[in-house]
Formats: sequence, structure tokens, C-alpha cells
Amino acid sequence: MDHKLTVAVKEFAYTLGADLVGIAPVSRYENAPVKMSPQGILPGAKSVVVCAIHHPDAAIELDGEVHPQIMGPYSIQYIMNTKLDFLSFKIGRMLEDLGYPTVPIASSNIWRYRGYRDLEAVFAPDVSHIYGGVCAGLGELGWNGLCITPEYGARNRFVSIITEAELEPTPMYSGKKLCDMCGECIRKCPTDAYRKEVNGTKDVVIENKHHVFANKNLWRCAWGEHFDLDLDLPIPDQVDEQVLLDHVKQHGIRHGEFGVCLKVCLPKHLRQPDPDYCKISVRRKRHTIPSDLPVHSAVYDTVLSIAGKNTLDHVHFISQKTLEEQGIPMKEHLPDGVGAILLTDHIKLPCQADEAKAFRETHIMEWNTMSRTVRVNLTIAELDICRELEKIGYSALPKTYLKHDALQKLCHETTENNAILYSALILTSAPLEDRHVLDVSHSDARGNLKERLTRAAKEAGADLVGFASAFAIDEIAEQLREIRKEETIVFATDK
Ligand code: SF4
Repeated sequence: MDHKLTVAVKEFAYTLGADLVGIAPVSRYENAPVKMSPQGILPGAKSVVVCAIHHPDAAIELDGEVHPQIMGPYSIQYIMNTKLDFLSFKIGRMLEDLGYPTVPIASSNIWRYRGYRDLEAVFAPDVSHIYGGVCAGLGELGWNGLCITPEYGARNRFVSIITEAELEPTPMYSGKKLCDMCGECIRKCPTDAYRKEVNGTKDVVIENKHHVFANKNLWRCAWGEHFDLDLDLPIPDQVDEQVLLDHVKQHGIRHGEFGVCLKVCLPKHLRQPDPDYCKISVRRKRHTIPSDLPVHSAVYDTVLSIAGKNTLDHVHFISQKTLEEQGIPMKEHLPDGVGAILLTDHIKLPCQADEAKAFRETHIMEWNTMSRTVRVNLTIAELDICRELEKIGYSALPKTYLKHDALQKLCHETTENNAILYSALILTSAPLEDRHVLDVSHSDARGNLKERLTRAAKEAGADLVGFASAFAIDEIAEQLREIRKEETIVFATDK
């Protein structure tokens, strides 16, 4: 067992933004089907590093209150998967660079919906990150089949990194039972999946410990969650793949679903009922900071640092006084909110203002790449700032339903000429002062431009960096034009 390496891996994972990190020896997966086991993926595997990041509490508690298919703040989950993929890849590279063959697994967004050869499991990921959380000592399975942790309940997303490094295992969770059969997941499930079509129980045995939970019909679960069918439609008594496909054909889709089993599930010691704040779930008990204390100056610096790392342009901290003067109804969206942070970024198109529309239409690939990059950076910054604020005791709500226009105007942020504005807005219980910090990722670094670009690319994770002149690219383009002249590029959109 390599103690020093274990500490280094954990430290690296926390630096990258993991909220929980555990190590499982592969022996804890002995009951997993071979195709979904660490050795089935990497025959020489010895350990699995499992990392979790947790959903911002305000997003879980305040969203989905009107309908599970009306989703705003909870949609931050999509970037959580991107962040987990990034964590997995970076930790995998770290271990591989040290000489240990490693397979970083992507977060589970893709499943084999049907069984495959001798694998009977449906909705099967490459390896279960949820069971991985238990194997790595981070928690226990609840009646809903989710990994409940003593810190965040079911409000986690996990990712696994399989490696030949022999790391020190985290002891299995042995505290108080985390699922006390409170029944909230059973009562509040919109498809009634814990009462209808339940085929007994499942028993997952990890190091002789039995985790028994409802053996739901996952196709029923998938009605709203995977197939996006309207939860207000009558759901047949029996749901299978064909029923789902027929209903999609007949009714079309509505929207993805907020996982209510995740929303309502907290272990007893974390439950704090507050019906004035949220009705469907209780609040998570956590350390909080009294809002009459001024915000520590390090908090402003942390926010600016996260924004700078994600190459954003400007950060605007907005006080409660200013929000009230502007008539911005923040408390309708975050009841304990007393401050807001507006993050902005711009894409400057390489053309004149009156040519911007034509540029976007004729350079659709470049435009899509540029706008996706800016949106990913903004949303990762939004998530990380919320996580940092929450960690020190403030509420923080990402992806609020509150429109950005009034705040953009207040902060003099507009789409002007050929610079297109993107923004993210966080509401918080931190009593912020008004501060407007511009050009947070601007650098005055001098010296050789190639060297600076190479350094920036390597810091972002590139292994090799090369440069080509526009003239050389033009020459290649000319040759490719001839080779590919018969090809047609088709963009297909599912309407
Ligand atoms: S909601 Fe209650 S019954 Fe359901 S898994 Fe969580 S603790 Fe268990």
C-alpha cells in the first residue's frame, strides 16, 4: 500500500474540486458482473479512486417545487458531469504519468439500456459509480438505490478512476445507518416507481455487508428521467421499452425530470424542516454564517480567482441595497438571499458589427465551438463559486429563473458591435458589497508570444503544442477543397 501516493491522489482530487474522495480495493467489487467490474475494464486493476461533488443545496431545495419537469437551478447538474469527467481524466493522467496503468471512467450519462451478451443488467454503466461510492467508504445505499453520504445525503454525483496503483483503502462506512426508511422517496416519486412494478428487493453485498433496496422497474423510472415523457400523462400499469417508445411517438416529449428521489433524501441527522423555504424536501443542516457579519475579503478573492481561471471577463458583486433600489425581486428566488454575483464573458467576432450575423451563419462550426467554450467556462465558474460559498456557510443559487437583463444593464454589460455578451448569475446569502472588477483574466505578461501560448496550453493540460502559419493552413485547405469537394455537411436537429 502506498500511503504517500494515496495522500497525493486525494490532495490532487480535492484541489481539482472534489468534495469527497475515497479509495476502494478491487476486492470490494467481487460480486459485480465481470463486464462491470474494475478488472473487467483493466485486468491488472488494484484500486478504484472514487470522487464526488455535491449539488448546491439551494438548487436541490428550491427547484422542482412547481413541477419536476420545470427545471432551472437543478440544470447545474449537467456541468457537474463535465467537471467529474475533467476530474477523472486529470487524476488518470496523474497516475499514468507516475507509471501506473489507469483507466479514468466518464461520469454516467450513457448507459446500455438493454442487457448485453451475458450481462443481464439494464441501464448499465461501464462501472457503477454509485456502488463505487459505497465501495470507497463514502456512504451506504438507500431504499432508493442511491449512495447516501453522511455529509450530503443523496445530493452527490460520483466518478471512478480504475488504476493498477495499490492505494490505501478508505475504511467502509460504519457510522449510523443513513437510510432510516423515512419513506419520502416512496411517497413523492412522480411515477410511483417504489409501489408499482417493484420486483422484490436487490441485495448488493460489499465486504460482507448487505445493502438491500427496492428492485424498481427502471423503465418506469425512465418515463420522465430518460425518455422525457410528460409526467402528467396517465402512466400505464406496465412500462417497458416499447411502451415508452410508443408514448414518445404519440405524445412527443416534455422535458427531463428532476430526480425527486434525490431531492427528498437526507439522513436523519441532516434534516432541517423549513416549510417557508421549500415544501417538497427538507433543508440540509449545515454550518452557516450569520448574515450580519461582513463578508471576509478572501471570499471576494476566491470568486475572482475562479472567474480568472475560467478566463471570464468581468465579475460584478451586487449588494442587497442596490438590488432593492433596482426593484430586483431576489428573495422570490432565494428567500435568504442578500447579494448577487454577475459573471460575464464576451465573444469578439473577427468581423465588423454589421457582418456578425453573416459570420455566425457561414462559420457555424467555429461559432458553435466558441460559444460552447464560453458557456462551459461560465457554468463551471458558476458551479465552483456556489460550492465555495456553500462550503463556508452561505446559501448560493446557480442558474436562477431571475432574468439577467436588469442586472446586465445595471452593470453596463451589453452586446455591443461585434462583442457578444454571455452571463451567469448567482444569488447568495452572503451580504456582498457593490464591487465591479473588470478584465479578471487579463494578463500584461510580456515576452515571446509563442512561449506564453505554449505555457497557457500546458497549464490547461495539453501535452503537445504546435503552431502553424495561416499561410500553411490556407495551403492545406486548398488541397482539401479538391479532395472533399463531393462531400456535403449536414446538420441534423431533432425538433
Ligand atoms: S428518502 Fe428516506 S426511505 Fe428513501 S432512501 Fe432516503 S432515507 Fe431511505
